This record gives sequence, structure tokens and C-alpha cells, in this order.
Amino acid sequence: MKKIIIAIDGFSSCGKSTMAKDLAQEIGYIYIDTGAMYRAVTLYCLRNGWIGTDGTVNEDELRRHLDDIHITFRLNPDTQRPMTCLNGEVVEDAIRGLEVASHVSAVAAIGFVREMLVRQQQEMGREKGIVMDGRDIGTAVFPDAELKVFVTASASIRAQRRYDELQAKGQEASFEDILRNVEERDRIDQTRAVSPLRQADDALLLDNSHLTIAEQKAWLKEQYNKVVQC
Ligand code: C5P
Repeated sequence: MKKIIIAIDGFSSCGKSTMAKDLAQEIGYIYIDTGAMYRAVTLYCLRNGWIGTDGTVNEDELRRHLDDIHITFRLNPDTQRPMTCLNGEVVEDAIRGLEVASHVSAVAAIGFVREMLVRQQQEMGREKGIVMDGRDIGTAVFPDAELKVFVTASASIRAQRRYDELQAKGQEASFEDILRNVEERDRIDQTRAVSPLRQADDALLLDNSHLTIAEQKAWLKEQYNKVVQC
């Protein structure tokens, strides 16, 4: 069976990663969560005090230390899911909290950060057989990907999903704060100068506001089958 690149882009918290991960596992592909990479860089900045109280990022310091940031993925032996590592440390939980979420879009808007991460992402997909999710995969990272999907859902449904996720993990969160964060990230992601979030002309649109996870998964598998069988 021919190996392809599957690019899944879309708004935050709309279940991209769940469906991407599940498909990758089912068809034996590598799964890469590019949002986790931007989140890991953000965590590094926060830990070093490079993000001010007003949210501005100290770009000079970040640029100077860019080569010190190494992001890798390691499989969790129990769940078989990838865990994000920052300089060898598993930071999967640390990058999912609201503090990182509140600053990640500002860090992701910095051109030299994107250049570095996009280069790494392209390298990861050199052999194909990869499912990658993010905001610019079908437009900037792999404009020639054989299958491109753009996922969306209403902001309040996405905020509710993120709220439920945090609750299930026992993390404190307010629905209002999450909704504001989702809307603010959408705004920054869509209006930034470098690789703004947009649907690639040849991407299939999936609005999953009223779909179950099982329905989304089945839809994605069907699209994959169509591409590899032709
Ligand atoms: O997908 P996730 O919500 O974890 O992504 C976190 C943030 O990282 C996004 O809101 C966006 O600002 C940024 N991002 C990006 N390009 C990607 C993936 C994520 O700008 N390919």
C-alpha cells in the first residue's frame, strides 16, 4: 500500500488530535502533534521568565537560546500514545495547562520559531507514512500532502470539550476562561502575519460540531481509503 502524508489542520480544541492519533495507530503511521511543539517552546520561555506579565515575549533571549530547545516524542508504554519531551523531560501535562495555552499563540506567531519547527516537521515527514496535525500543515509544512483535512466546530462546543478534558484530569478550570482562551487563540492564529490559520484550497472541510468521535474517525478512515486506493 502506498504511504502518504495526511495533514490535519483546524481550530483549537476541535478534536483534531484524537482523530489523527487514532487513525495513525490504526494504519501504522507516525503521528505528530505540532501544537505540542509550539507549546513546548512556550513552556521553555515561561520557565526562563521570557514572557512578561503583559504577555510580550522576549524574542531576543528566545532567539539566542533557540538551539538549546530540543523537542522529541516518546511513546508511553502503557497507552502507546506519544508523549512530548522538552530536552529529554516528559512535559505532556505541563504543556496542556491554561498558562501555556494563554501564551502559545504569541510564541507561535514568531517567524524564527515557526521556521525552526517547520523545518523539523518536514524532516519528520520525509519518508511519508505520517499523520500531522496543526494549523499550517496543509498550507506551509506539506503543501503537497496527499490528504488534507480542515476541521472546525463552534467555539462554545470546543471550549466545552476542553473543559471536560481538564475536569476529567482533575485540573481546575473555568468554562468562561477556556472559552475566552479558545476565541483569543482563534483570533491570533487567523490574523498572524506568518502562516495564518486558513483552509488550504484542496483541503476537505469537516465540521464536527455534531459528530461523535466514532463518526469522525470513520469519516477520516474513509477519506484515507479513497486516497490510497486510487
Ligand atoms: O493544537 P494546539 O491547540 O495544541 O496548538 C496550540 C497553539 O499552537 C495554537 O493555538 C497555535 O497558536 C499554535 N500552532 C501553530 N501551528 C501549528 C500548530 C499549533 O501555530 N502547526
